[in-house]
Amino acid sequence: MASPRLRGVGAVLADLVLPRTCAGCGIPGAVLCSPCARHLARPLPAAPRRVPWGFPPTAAAGRYAGPVRPAVLEFKERGRAELARPLGAALALAVAAVVSAVPGPLASHRPVLLVPVPSSRAELRSRGRDHVRELTGRAVAELRAAGLPAAEARLLRRRGQVRDSAGMSVAQRRANLAGTFQRVDTRPLPEALLVLVDDVVTTGATLTEAAAALEAGRPAGGTPVLAAVVAATPRTARGGRPGVHLQVVPKRSENVRGASLDRLSGPPRRD
Ligand SMILES: [Zn+2]
Repeated sequence: MASPRLRGVGAVLADLVLPRTCAGCGIPGAVLCSPCARHLARPLPAAPRRVPWGFPPTAAAGRYAGPVRPAVLEFKERGRAELARPLGAALALAVAAVVSAVPGPLASHRPVLLVPVPSSRAELRSRGRDHVRELTGRAVAELRAAGLPAAEARLLRRRGQVRDSAGMSVAQRRANLAGTFQRVDTRPLPEALLVLVDDVVTTGATLTEAAAALEAGRPAGGTPVLAAVVAATPRTARGGRPGVHLQVVPKRSENVRGASLDRLSGPPRRD
């Protein structure tokens, strides 16, 4: 079996030798063609059907369906690293969306720390890379270019073994994940907004556990930990239309419904 490093070389060679095709629809040309990229250009709130208690206010750049799904899988599982640029830009848009939903005139001036959800050791071994950190790096670059004081902060690490969650119910996933994440740096952070970042949200169990670990030890009543993802499964995104229904309030159980995301930065709305 080829090592992950060799597989990486193979992917680069394939990109050089084979005609480049869109990872979303397969049409020759761009790595992600414009029509496919538009599926990741209108952030929406990600709200699982059964919202786990403590699920952080979360924005997704698009739905994990249609061309978005193969594009994410090409990047994540098949090592097509050049997708970090468009998918990282999508993640940046989701970060901007959730940050813009924080009330208060000064929210946009607060430093924004992107906290990548750590992959498990087994995932890192099998992929040979940390794809969430690649996305995080691109998103930080995009946000900084747009004038947002953003930085990456690796504040979480995994502890213990977690079983493969395929086929588990939401409750089973939560039990499986309980205590998975540990905050690395326990120093009190200044006024920074913490935004967990990940590729896809499905049941919300991972983001919920990661947010709980980040919240531990923070003063109560402040802005809660936020989250942003490239894509949310359609089931989880059902309650949200692009541009509406996300409001960040200090009380964590009330964070899914509410006002609007009209202050989103991003492409103009088409409807
Ligand atoms: Zn396409």
